[in-house]
Amino acid sequence: MVNEIQVKSILNKHRKRDDWFLDDYSVNPYSGCSFNCIYCYIRGSKYGENMTKTLSVKINAPELMERQLSKRAKKGEYGIIAVSSATEPYMPIEGKYKLTRKIFETILKYKFPVEVATKSKLVLRDLNILKEIDENAILPDDLKPKLKHGVIISFSISTLDEKLAKFVEPGAPKPIERLKTMRKCKEEGFFTGVCFIPVLPFLSDSSEQLEETIRTVKEYGADFIFVGGLTLFGKGPADSKTLYFKFLEKHYPELLPKYKELYRIFFSPPKEYQREIEEKSKRLCEKYGIKNRIV
Ligand code: SF4
Repeated sequence: MVNEIQVKSILNKHRKRDDWFLDDYSVNPYSGCSFNCIYCYIRGSKYGENMTKTLSVKINAPELMERQLSKRAKKGEYGIIAVSSATEPYMPIEGKYKLTRKIFETILKYKFPVEVATKSKLVLRDLNILKEIDENAILPDDLKPKLKHGVIISFSISTLDEKLAKFVEPGAPKPIERLKTMRKCKEEGFFTGVCFIPVLPFLSDSSEQLEETIRTVKEYGADFIFVGGLTLFGKGPADSKTLYFKFLEKHYPELLPKYKELYRIFFSPPKEYQREIEEKSKRLCEKYGIKNRIV
């Protein structure tokens, strides 16, 4: 039984544009996520260990979107809208509620550009409306010289290894399905790529694995790929750090001491780690002729 809720606001304006996805706004028509990735940063007691059980549908999202976006459009405050930033926009439940699609209808009406981050092939259902957004969106002035697209579709992956993905992303489609969906988006003329976040320490971060991932996503038509480290938060039973360490204990106990060292003080690995995977992936992106940023 899905929880239907009414919310007071749906369109969030960021204080600062996101460095990676370039969004100035975000919209999340659902709360919680049935894909249940154990590393998900939204995890915590509010959603519980199994986020499928606490999934909520923001039933008044379309009418709020109309009200809020029309005001922004009137003032000419154009900016990229991330759909969605804190949940998956194409969970199976979207097949029934169509909230993501209704949000796109409003975005098209007011000519805003969008960034869609997904792991699901259900995005293919909306390529017709995304095509119209792509052709009509008004980019913010400072992005116009750098970006030629009104729609950016990114697919997130943490590993290409199917077995490992099943452990860490139990409710999500297989990585290969995401790549096949990306290829279809590319064939339809979209600007699309991969957000390789989080790269999993000692599991998907070796030089060989980075190279295999970058080479493979290029073969599937990606325009860009960017990498980011794993963040692990909290001590509660539903927190990402607790769940991830439980997974290690069960499947990779030999890695536990290494992880404890890596996450000894902070919620993310040391800066040198992030710098190293970024530098390695930059070199590999040059080798395979793929961008390592959206712009
Ligand atoms: S798909 Fe995204 S929002 Fe959903 S659980 Fe995974 S990381 Fe979190």
